[in-house]
Amino acid sequence: MSQEQELREKLVRMGALLYNRQLAHGSAGNLSVRLDDGSILITPTNSSLGFLEPERISKIRPDGALIAGDPPSKEYFFHLAVYEERPAARAIVHLHSTYSVAVSCLCHEETEDVLPPLTAYHVMRVGKLPLVRYFRPGDRALAKAVREASKDHRAIMLANHGPIVSGATIEEAVYAYEELEETAKLYFIIGDRKTSPLKAEQIAEINRTFSN
Ligand SMILES: [Zn+2]
Repeated sequence: MSQEQELREKLVRMGALLYNRQLAHGSAGNLSVRLDDGSILITPTNSSLGFLEPERISKIRPDGALIAGDPPSKEYFFHLAVYEERPAARAIVHLHSTYSVAVSCLCHEETEDVLPPLTAYHVMRVGKLPLVRYFRPGDRALAKAVREASKDHRAIMLANHGPIVSGATIEEAVYAYEELEETAKLYFIIGDRKTSPLKAEQIAEINRTFSN
């Protein structure tokens, strides 16, 4: 099977997984992967992640031109911005999952990292999560802000919207997204109780041991 066909089918399976886990609803959210030739497979506009079809997944050039399949998600432009900024990224997951979006709607005084480092897995898979300010849906100025925030971060949070998470494979990006959603859930479960997040030296030790 070609790399493209394999990845088309994997996007269908991952879409169904995220939909069945209730991390995606309606036609919200989009997934993409970058092929060896630089072209990108991305979920189509107005499609439900629970019911994707391999042959209808959009294939676009790095400039956004459609090569094959249905028209791409309207949010394709910020996927392109992340790929441009992160050469090692081969997959992107962007969802409007409940707890993550709830974090994106809070009033954040510090925008460099909008979730505390509660667990080692969050630090390993997500890392620091900077907030990108609100933009109207479809506003292309978002691409510039996403590019800047993506430079040093594999996961970023769009205000009043949701996270964008990239990875070296679609599995890595999906697992990191799931970790982020679980940390967001923990954050609300803990509420106002005093927490004991990981300390700077513990985070540094994790980053030294699991550098990627
Ligand atoms: Zn979105």
